[in-house]
Amino acid sequence: MSLPLRPELAGIEPYGAPQLDVAHRLNVNENPYPPSDAMIADITEAVREAAASLNRYADRDCVGLREDLAAYLRAESRVEVEWERVWAANGSNEIMTQLLQAFGGAGRCALTAVPSYSMYPEYARDTGTDFVTVARRDDFALDIDAMIAAIERHTPAIIFLASPNNPTGTALEVEQARAIIEAAAANGPDGTSGIVIIDEAYGEFRRDGTPSALELLADYDSLVVTRTMSKAFGMAGLRLGYCVAAREIIDAVMVVRLPYHLSGLTQVAARAALRHADEQLAQVGELRDRRDRLAQWLRGQGFHCPESDANFCLFGPVADRHRLFEQLLERGVLVREVGPEGYVRVSVGTADDDRAFRVALEEVDR
Ligand code: PMP
Repeated sequence: MSLPLRPELAGIEPYGAPQLDVAHRLNVNENPYPPSDAMIADITEAVREAAASLNRYADRDCVGLREDLAAYLRAESRVEVEWERVWAANGSNEIMTQLLQAFGGAGRCALTAVPSYSMYPEYARDTGTDFVTVARRDDFALDIDAMIAAIERHTPAIIFLASPNNPTGTALEVEQARAIIEAAAANGPDGTSGIVIIDEAYGEFRRDGTPSALELLADYDSLVVTRTMSKAFGMAGLRLGYCVAAREIIDAVMVVRLPYHLSGLTQVAARAALRHADEQLAQVGELRDRRDRLAQWLRGQGFHCPESDANFCLFGPVADRHRLFEQLLERGVLVREVGPEGYVRVSVGTADDDRAFRVALEEVDR
């Protein structure tokens, strides 16, 4: 049978890291801690109540949830955010796809600095948007001159900048962010202002002294900051991502979103989880400390490991990363072969995961 598959999808495998049932899963930057009993009880009660009205569509505009997310951001980042500037969807993956549906498309391009998150080119492909990359410097910081030259040349509708970046863990410097936002705003397609998405999926794990891009929102109407409950909040299975942006951007996203895109159960479960923000953020503090100790240990082992603002560490180079991956897996430790050749990424787990990873790494061929 010959199907009318879009030519750009021919031969492409679905995205996905292995989901293996091993003792130490350190490959997709999840939070290693399951929700507390109190959180489970609150989510269960909220879902039970909402189940009674599942014959009705849920609030299409998710107003209550957006109010709660705005309050959470005020407490977490000390930045005033009105709920009308917050938008929520099924993971930040869906948020970024919606942004491309609204602002990308045929004849337009999106741009990022690589290495970075491997889904950006997929959002572009799925929305018929061209995709342009600029190499980062050897220390994984942006090559600002190359970025600005590429912006002037390609006039991107959207620029993706992950901060902290996946897979390097490195954060974007504020002055660099400003330079990119200003260059994009002056060089969008057809004389418009190009949008910059600063993807803060791991924002809560930033080190003291690393500011959130939320602080820049007051200065730029073309900036979007995305966040997720998948990482710091330990809710990867819930699928709840959100963004903060100018109202005009949120209005455009609401035009392309599918009606009732966010299930009523998701909305109430997310709101119940948000009531436990304090305990979640305390746990993030513990993971940040463990990350810093792990990075130091990796450097002590002779690896290059860039300073991480996220819940994972990239390290290398190793002679044969696939062999290292397999040997770690034989010892029950699952990591990710990602980033520059010879580099491997490991998520920060529990104290027990951390011990197992270190013991295994000392045993394998490097
Ligand atoms: N951005 C980055 C940089 C990520 O690493 C991830 C998840 N791995 C996401 C966005 C997507 O997260 P989610 O869709 O779960 O919110």
